Amino acid sequence: MKNYPPVSALQMPDRLLLGPGPSNAHPAVLQAMSTPPVGHLDPTFLALMDEIQSLLRYVWQTQNPMTIAVSGTGTAAMEATIANSVQPGDIVCVGVAGYFGNRLVDMARRYGGDVRTISKPWGDVFSLEELRQALETYCPAILALVHAETSTGARQPLEGVGELCREFGCLLLVDTVTSLGGVPIFLDEWGVDLAYSCSQKGLGCSPGASPFTMSPKAWEKLQQRPNKVPNWYLDMTLLGKYWGSERMYHHTAPINLYYGLREALRLIAEEGLENCWQRHQQNAEYLWEQLEMLGLIPHVAREFRLPTLTTVRIPDGVDGKAISGKLLQEYNIEIGGGLGELAGQVWRVGLMGYNSRKESVDRLISALKEVLLR
Ligand SMILES: *Cc1c(COP(=O)(O)O)cnc(C)c1O
Repeated sequence: MKNYPPVSALQMPDRLLLGPGPSNAHPAVLQAMSTPPVGHLDPTFLALMDEIQSLLRYVWQTQNPMTIAVSGTGTAAMEATIANSVQPGDIVCVGVAGYFGNRLVDMARRYGGDVRTISKPWGDVFSLEELRQALETYCPAILALVHAETSTGARQPLEGVGELCREFGCLLLVDTVTSLGGVPIFLDEWGVDLAYSCSQKGLGCSPGASPFTMSPKAWEKLQQRPNKVPNWYLDMTLLGKYWGSERMYHHTAPINLYYGLREALRLIAEEGLENCWQRHQQNAEYLWEQLEMLGLIPHVAREFRLPTLTTVRIPDGVDGKAISGKLLQEYNIEIGGGLGELAGQVWRVGLMGYNSRKESVDRLISALKEVLLR
């Protein structure tokens, strides 16, 4: 028996998380998460799961019965949409204009999808006409788009895309990881069949409990599937029995995270979803104005800029990594760097959930001013 040397108690810095995620959880959410847990089949916990479902329908503006939280991060919920909708040989058309479009491509291929991509430079979005052309060319079973491309800061408009998909008889799958809670979404009105999100961005919770929803039409396709979903953990026919009236044991839910998610959703309902969207928009506009006063230029055209995530061009001659390093080390502020096509070219600034506040912008701008002047 070897003894372990003394280990100090947990001590972590208090950062302001203004990167592409996670964002800081709301203090009330952190408090809710420290509530002593009940059992995962306790009637009070089952009632809490029902509340989460109903609140998720509200923030997504959907009536989909199959609306749940996946135990895992946004990527798990992403994989759940693919695993439950893609059958081997299905043609899947993916709009790629950033990092997460590519992740969808990789996942759809792994589940046997016959993937066709349409692409745009990072920071651009697809027009309805371009999407129509893609559907005409490929006749896909599924069209997958990223509503809020966190790698570029662009918002893909979705108005009319659902009707287009109906016309061509395909399902519409949408990544709403960086839009849910911060950007207007009308899932049913827009005719979206499958969507997923995460807890640690616009919802203002900690990572680990991720919203998932599927329309009755997508559910129908799942029911008619000739083979089993090739992922046991994310199989909605099984998960549906845990979240539905059967309450059949599937996995042990991360109880305390669900407490946090419920509180985060409750706070949004209390604020009012539209007010919450408006707050995100106003604080983003304030950020853009302040950045421009420092001579810094957002990468995305104003019309398609996300309120939750702004990509800012790094000025010539400035070492982007050195600046973000100083913000972190000296000011306790985290911002992100560029990915893929935008690596080294932009910083990524997130104003998500609880962090979408004027004080966050003021703290960042005053720190950035000092660091850039040096
Ligand atoms: C963050 C993100 C994901 C992945 O979510 P994780 O919680 O990191 O697993 C997927 N899509 C988009 C657009 C994201 O921003």
